[in-house]
Amino acid sequence: MRETGEEVGEKRVGSVNVYILTLFPQMFSGVLGASILGRAIERGVIRVKLVDIRDFTHDAHKTADDYPYGGGPGMVMKPEPVYEAVDAVKEEIAGSGSQERPCVCLMTPQGEPFCDRAARELAGFSNLVLICGHYEGFDERVRYLADREISIGDYVLTGGEIPAMVVLDAVVRHVPGVLGSEESTRAESFSEGLLEGPQYTRPPEYRGLKVPEILLSGDHEKIRRWRRKQALKRTLERRPDLLDKAALTPEDRELLLEIAWEADTRDDLYPDAPPMGVRRG
Ligand code: SAM
Repeated sequence: MRETGEEVGEKRVGSVNVYILTLFPQMFSGVLGASILGRAIERGVIRVKLVDIRDFTHDAHKTADDYPYGGGPGMVMKPEPVYEAVDAVKEEIAGSGSQERPCVCLMTPQGEPFCDRAARELAGFSNLVLICGHYEGFDERVRYLADREISIGDYVLTGGEIPAMVVLDAVVRHVPGVLGSEESTRAESFSEGLLEGPQYTRPPEYRGLKVPEILLSGDHEKIRRWRRKQALKRTLERRPDLLDKAALTPEDRELLLEIAWEADTRDDLYPDAPPMGVRRG
């Protein structure tokens, strides 16, 4: 079998293997070597293999792109090297004894908008393949390789490498053992269909801005209820669309009624706070 590429991290039973197919493997070195992702790779909780699509070209110049049929600007990624790279990855996975098909994801601005639910779903696979496009994109036939097409937003980047990093980072946070505690993703934004409420750390007062008394009270039940209310309030203010889809409990509905009763839904702690997205100079 053909060697598929540079491997970062050791394979361990129960780990997630992520194969990244790219023309620019060097772009990943910083991201894979630091912080939570770097530690997860070092500890073998995830394994990332960078597969250089150019290694699957057949000419002396390692040509991976060509002019578009019918004319037009830019170059288009050729189908053959991408197909052969995916074949090699699938062979390697089969050779490792894994019975599970990998999930092949194509990075494209035309794909499904990436979200926390998708990240959780992808974290359930033992083998993930992320294909990064470049130049003007790829030959349409590359799409047939993909189980999912993923967009990280309604804008166009120069390549699929940054989207693949975004997907990788969001996915691995849901792989057991990657974060310090299983609790860590539970109350975060989107994890329960809501945005996270405000967080504070020391000091208790900074430039006249005080930490809410309740967080200093030590009353765990009151703190839990306050946090939930703040999460609901923030979601209502910033992303009311999320509330339509969230699984709300009877307590949540009660808290939403309380919020509605409080005339102003802006953060009443700091009534002079600038509106979302606006910074004071
Ligand atoms: N011509 C393509 C189109 O209009 O759909 C865009 C090509 S873009 C310049 C080059 C590559 O960057 C794409 O093939 C894709 O892999 C990646 N890319 C760009 N924007 C992206 C986004 N928002 N989400 C995911 N991938 C993206």
